[in-house]
Amino acid sequence: MARLGSWIKAQPEGIYVEPADAWIDPSQPKSKALITHGHSDHARGGHSAVLATAETLAIMEVRCGPQNGQALGYDETNRVGEVDVRFVPAGHVLGSAQIVLEHAGERVVVSGDYKRRPDPTCACFVPVPCDIFITEATFGLPVFRHPDTGSEIDRLLHRLHSDPSRCVLVGAYALGKAQRIITELRARGHSDPIYFHGAIERLNQLYQSFGVKLGELRFTGAATKQEMAGHIVIAPPSALNDRWSRRLPDPVTAMASGWMRIRQRARQQNVELPLIISDHADWDELTMTIRELEPSEVWITHGREEALKHWCMTHQIKACELNLVGYEDEDD
Ligand SMILES: [Zn+2]
Ligand SMILES: [Zn+2]
Repeated sequence: MARLGSWIKAQPEGIYVEPADAWIDPSQPKSKALITHGHSDHARGGHSAVLATAETLAIMEVRCGPQNGQALGYDETNRVGEVDVRFVPAGHVLGSAQIVLEHAGERVVVSGDYKRRPDPTCACFVPVPCDIFITEATFGLPVFRHPDTGSEIDRLLHRLHSDPSRCVLVGAYALGKAQRIITELRARGHSDPIYFHGAIERLNQLYQSFGVKLGELRFTGAATKQEMAGHIVIAPPSALNDRWSRRLPDPVTAMASGWMRIRQRARQQNVELPLIISDHADWDELTMTIRELEPSEVWITHGREEALKHWCMTHQIKACELNLVGYEDEDD
C-alpha cells in the first residue's frame, strides 16, 4: 500500500496537491493556488488562478492588485481535479481557512496559520478529524504560553488612564492584529475614538465592509498632539521607532505580539509596554489541537518544528518537518 498522503508533495515553494494540480500558499507564481489567508507570506500575487474565501480574495486585491479568483464559502465542497476541497475556519484573521483535502479515501487538513482562542474579528477554528494534519508551529516551544487576552487589554487600558497627558502607541500588524486590538478594546468597554496610522486605513475599511464593528476611528494625520493626548494610537510595528511617531504626544510605546513573551525582543524594539497577544496557537493550543484531531501523522511547516515533532513522537504520533521556505511571519 502507498504511503499515507503520497499524493501531497512538500516542495520548498509550497505544498503541491498533485491530483488537483494545485498549490497551497505557494511562494512562487503558479497556475492554480489555494490560499489559506491574506498575510503576505501566504498570499502572494501573480498566480493565474486563485481559490480562497471571499474575504481573503478581497484582502489580496487590496494588497496585490486584481486577482483571477474564485471565492469559496466556508464548508462548501468543491471538486478540484480529482480532489474534494473544503475551506474551514482557522480563527487566525478575517477569512482565514484551513484547507480540507479528500482523495483516495484519505483526509488531509492543511491548517495554514491558526489559533484556538476567540477573536471577535473572525470565525472560530473548527476542528476536523483527519489522517494527516499539516500544522504551523510558529510558537512551537513550551515556553510560549499566551496569557488571557482580556487581561493584556486591561493592562493597556490601565496604562492609558494612568497618565492622560500621554498617548499609548500600540504596534500591531496591519492585517488582523490591528483590527483585533480595536475590537478587543471595544469589548472591554473602551468607546473613545481610537487613532490610526494611515498604513492600516484600507484594511480597517475592508474589515468594516465585512461587518466587523470598529467604533469611532480617527486618522492621526488630521489630529493635533493635544487631541491625541489620553488616547490610543494603532500603527504598524515599523512605525514605532520612526520619525512619524514624533507627531504624537509623548507616546508610551506598546507592541501586541506573541514574541513579546521574550523580553529581549521587547527591549530591542524599545517597547515599554509589551502585550502578549498573538494570532497564532501557543504551545498548549498546538498540542491540544493535535490531541483533539487524533491524526495518524502530523506534518509540521513553519516555525519551531523540532519540539513539536518530539512531542508527537512521545505521544505515538508519526511526525515530520516540511522544509518550506519563505514563510516569515508578518503576523505573529
Ligand atoms: Zn498568518
Ligand atoms: Zn504564517
